[in-house]
Amino acid sequence: MAKVVVKNLTKKFGNLVAVKDLNLTVEEGEFVVLLGPSGCGKTTTLRCIAGLEHPDEGEIYFDDTLVNDLSPSTRNIAFVFQFYALYPYLSVYDNIAFPLRAERIPEKEVRERVNSILKLLKIEDIKDKSPKKLTSGQAQRVALGRAIVRRPRVFLLDEPLSNLDAKFREEMRLELRRLQSHIGTTTIYVTHDQAEAVSLADRIVVMNLGVVQQIGTPREVYSYPRNLFVANFIGSPGMNLINCSYQSGKLVGENGSFSFPIDDETKTKIPSDLQGKRLVLGVRPEDFVFTSDKDPEGIGCEVYIVEPLGTENIVSLKIGESIVKVKTPPAFLPQVGEKLRVKIKKGKLRLFNRETEENIL
Ligand code: ATP
Repeated sequence: MAKVVVKNLTKKFGNLVAVKDLNLTVEEGEFVVLLGPSGCGKTTTLRCIAGLEHPDEGEIYFDDTLVNDLSPSTRNIAFVFQFYALYPYLSVYDNIAFPLRAERIPEKEVRERVNSILKLLKIEDIKDKSPKKLTSGQAQRVALGRAIVRRPRVFLLDEPLSNLDAKFREEMRLELRRLQSHIGTTTIYVTHDQAEAVSLADRIVVMNLGVVQQIGTPREVYSYPRNLFVANFIGSPGMNLINCSYQSGKLVGENGSFSFPIDDETKTKIPSDLQGKRLVLGVRPEDFVFTSDKDPEGIGCEVYIVEPLGTENIVSLKIGESIVKVKTPPAFLPQVGEKLRVKIKKGKLRLFNRETEENIL
């Protein structure tokens, strides 16, 4: 196991800056997920850590060793891609044993290590099968087994679950988390799927256009997004983002179309120079609550669309000129066109500067 330190990493392809001045420390045994849309530089970052790309600027350390000029094979990493390639003419057992035999490890130790991996991954029953006879989920387990059997210092995974169907993906996600906590190897995992990131990571690195937007625990990036990009990218549906301005202690919609009072706790955090600034109000779909006509904190809205999803409903509401999405329990099924009142739960209001896109609370 190693701690991985990335300092001021920049990687360019011609004029394109794929990764810009990235700083990240992954602690020994930590599970860190690089998350962002296609083309944001996740894979390039991972490939630089693996030694498959050479940084234009910056340093990469495994513990205290600078690894910039070390080849991938001497970094003692394991890399698993979306498109795993098993040796088709070797059995599952021999596929997993392959990297150990390549290192000329005595056969007795190979047997012990392969058997313990087969057990850990719960694939003992398919050890004699040919890869051609495996389901995609089984094949991916074998690929993981072959990667971890070498006991790498760092485990690098690039969208390893994205070619599995949805059910297998969920199952493998749980398996991966269990596996990683069992073997405790420092892991860096790339995905564009925010749900996958939130369920797997100790910490998430949210990236966009080659630049780190925020690094934090799943709870931190979900509850306290640093900017509008993170607010919108994390969560499904993403955070409701509504243009507004601050006037006399209230958040007022465009053309005065709504006026949200601000709770006392949030008021204490509001900077003094907000008057007249172009702002964006952010509220998670589960942070609106319906309230009575008499509640002074409530504001009027109209039901626009209702999506019953089984475990919850997503109710779209028209507030002034804006449409916001609200999560409700399955039994709460209002009629389209119904007039209701909503308020924001205490402490759940987020506020962004529309020019800089930064969270200002
Ligand atoms: P994806 O999930 O689509 O792979 P990503 O976030 O992993 O996206 P990268 O693969 O790191 O993104 O790519 C970042 C940018 O660098 C993209 O614009 C991509 O087209 C470009 N890029 C990556 N590799 C190369 C290369 N070898 N040559 C030229 N451009 C590249």
